[in-house]
Amino acid sequence: MPKVYLSPERRPAPHAPYYGFPGVYEHDVCVEIGAYCAEALTRCGFDVMVASPNKTMQERVAESIAWKSNLHMPIHTNASTATLKEGTAQGPTVLRYGRAGGISDRACQMVYRRLMEIYPRNTHRGVYQKDEFYEIGRTPMLSIYPEIAFHDNGQDAIWIVQNKKRIAEALCKGVCDWFGVAYKEEEKPQTDYDKLVAELEDIKEKYRTEHASAQALRGRILAAIEQYDTVAK
Ligand SMILES: [Zn+2]
Repeated sequence: MPKVYLSPERRPAPHAPYYGFPGVYEHDVCVEIGAYCAEALTRCGFDVMVASPNKTMQERVAESIAWKSNLHMPIHTNASTATLKEGTAQGPTVLRYGRAGGISDRACQMVYRRLMEIYPRNTHRGVYQKDEFYEIGRTPMLSIYPEIAFHDNGQDAIWIVQNKKRIAEALCKGVCDWFGVAYKEEEKPQTDYDKLVAELEDIKEKYRTEHASAQALRGRILAAIEQYDTVAK
């Protein structure tokens, strides 16, 4: 089976804060999505290696080459501002190597389509060429570089935080599409005990989702107060 090397965002906090989510940063979210994605890819039969968080981009690419991966896939979320103000850009993008219609483009389109299947808004950012990125231009194997959505936009940040596992599974489905592998759903619970555990997980997930929304709202209120204070001075 093909070998997939996953490389979630390396830079730790305070790089890339999530708008409206105090204490949430791109690194932690992407590492979590990477772990879910590794789980799904393994279930589908792929050999998977996940970059250890402290490795540099150079070390990751070298490791991916030494391991003879068939696909190198960084995992990132996007930003349209370099400030703490809310950005207006929204939606998934996948970054490719080389020309439109080339191998990387076709593979990236498959992952992009799977992300758009679950993304709730009608954006059209599509696939872009980014050969100058180290983990695109310097990987001799195929690379697919998803920028899942914009963490500096309130609505996108909420969507990412609430859908980490679904996003990871969408990435996995795109990879399956490219390699012609059938996507394998997570096993359905069998015994009463398993059902109970699944139900509990569901409740926990709902709690986390509602907690995340409340946190996001709190962030927006705090930002508004801060803005008001600045204007009032
Ligand atoms: Zn990033």
